[in-house]
Amino acid sequence: MLRSGREYLESIRDGRTIYVGSERIHDVTTHPLFENCARTYAALFDLKADPANRDTLTYEAEGERFSAYYLRPRHKEDLRKRNLAHKRIAEFCLGVMGRTPDAVAGSITGLAMNPGYLAGQSGGHADNVLSIYEHMRRNDVFSTYAIVPPQGARNKDYYQSSGLAQPGLAVTSEADSGVVLNGVKMLATGAVYADEVLIGNIMPLAPDQRKQSITCVIPLNLPGLSLWARTPFVRPGRSEFDNPLTHRFDESDTVLVFKDVKVPWEKIIVHDNAELSRNIYVKTPAHVIANHQSNVRFATKLRFMLSVASLVTKATGARDIPAVRDTLGRLAAYEAGFSAMVDGQIEAFQEVDGGYVMFNRRYLYAAVHWAMENHSAIVDTLRELMGGGHFQFPASINVIQDPELESMFRNYWRAGDDEPVGRMKLFRLAWDLVGSDHASRATSYEKFFVGPAFAVRNYNFVNTPWDEVHAVTESFMRQYDAG
Ligand SMILES: Cc1cc2nc3c(=O)[nH]c(=O)nc-3n(C[C@H](O)[C@H](O)[C@H](O)COP(=O)(O)OP(=O)(O)OC[C@H]3O[C@@H](n4cnc5c(N)ncnc54)[C@H](O)[C@@H]3O)c2cc1C
Repeated sequence: MLRSGREYLESIRDGRTIYVGSERIHDVTTHPLFENCARTYAALFDLKADPANRDTLTYEAEGERFSAYYLRPRHKEDLRKRNLAHKRIAEFCLGVMGRTPDAVAGSITGLAMNPGYLAGQSGGHADNVLSIYEHMRRNDVFSTYAIVPPQGARNKDYYQSSGLAQPGLAVTSEADSGVVLNGVKMLATGAVYADEVLIGNIMPLAPDQRKQSITCVIPLNLPGLSLWARTPFVRPGRSEFDNPLTHRFDESDTVLVFKDVKVPWEKIIVHDNAELSRNIYVKTPAHVIANHQSNVRFATKLRFMLSVASLVTKATGARDIPAVRDTLGRLAAYEAGFSAMVDGQIEAFQEVDGGYVMFNRRYLYAAVHWAMENHSAIVDTLRELMGGGHFQFPASINVIQDPELESMFRNYWRAGDDEPVGRMKLFRLAWDLVGSDHASRATSYEKFFVGPAFAVRNYNFVNTPWDEVHAVTESFMRQYDAG
């Protein structure tokens, strides 16, 4: 069942507990800090439900249509279909929203490609993986994830302290009906807008941290669960013109606090198995299927950044200066090169158990790493190309509502044939990409959303076929000797 935007908005008016500071937010679909982004998510559901996008954004199985991001790929063309669906969604948001509904759907789809990995392992609930997957694709569920413990919980003694003093999320009691969870999990991007959340552990746990290994997919309105949002960047009363990306795409990040939250057994994927809790992402296609989406999104964002960079240099009049062209050429090479890294994941696809295929894991981790290492420098280059342009414009476009100020603005801010409102529009957009609160949060997002850099480098290390790599040198060295 594919949902319309209106049906989606109805479903997230579910009484969930959201706080911005001490203010309780009762309905994100109408609250001024959240309603714009809720509309963006609704528009994404409408985009998918539009018959014109049917072939790109949905697939048919068993006589029903499902979102393309729930497709379990069996051959290269299925991978291409997933890739194109991600691209269509990312283009709608210019690649600046991380937690679109196609993101975490990839984790669950990847798990459902190899539930057998969980079968036979203590605490692994393989049947639940399949029923959760079926529930999510049949109900067109938008899920986010919270799979990192709070920073204060990194100290093992702290982690294992008892009762409610324990910050890291853990099972505190069990019954025939399910488990009870207490503690904190971070940092669920998009949780105020999602239907459900995947709770788990992407970083390894110590073997004795069995109670923290709980992995489940739950609705966000469970009694006892509260969502503590970071400061929203939308400023009520500020126009879209002055903050265009913030206005539509402030997807929000929230810490999830669990106070005696009851989770039924059928929602649980891993329980009481620290190693399995983390391995389900990297020993199944889950991490790869999910992060291809993040790669496609970043490629889309890079193209947007290149586009803004070039237009800004046109507006400053510097575009044809050789040094500026050189900089644009470098950015263009980054953009094309990164797109090739993403498309190459399809060409060099890998076969996996169960007759499925996935994107090339090594190429994927290389692209994840490239993006996290280079995003900030690219932002800085764009900022440099802007010069002080952004600061030369008035505080708000509302100057044009005053006839006298408008006339002065149109006269003094003109640059050659470029009229000032258009120039200001471009610089406001560029600033929202590199300098605003929204932009600043994005630089942290690109560094951390997939985990810290040392963990990503470790994925690259452990997936390298070192014997083959060593053989390159060793086979050459065997061709000569000391004599
Ligand atoms: C904007 C944003 C959105 C996010 N969205 C989500 C989300 O939707 N879902 C989710 O689950 N998570 C999300 N995250 C959380 C993200 O997964 C974590 O921030 C990330 O895993 C890093 O963990 P940390 O923030 O606790 O940093 P820490 O683990 O405390 O690391 C901070 C820094 O300390 C250093 N460091 C710490 N440990 C080591 C070590 N062992 N070796 C070397 N250096 C070390 C490194 O410099 C590291 O960068 C998001 C984060 C951000 C910033």
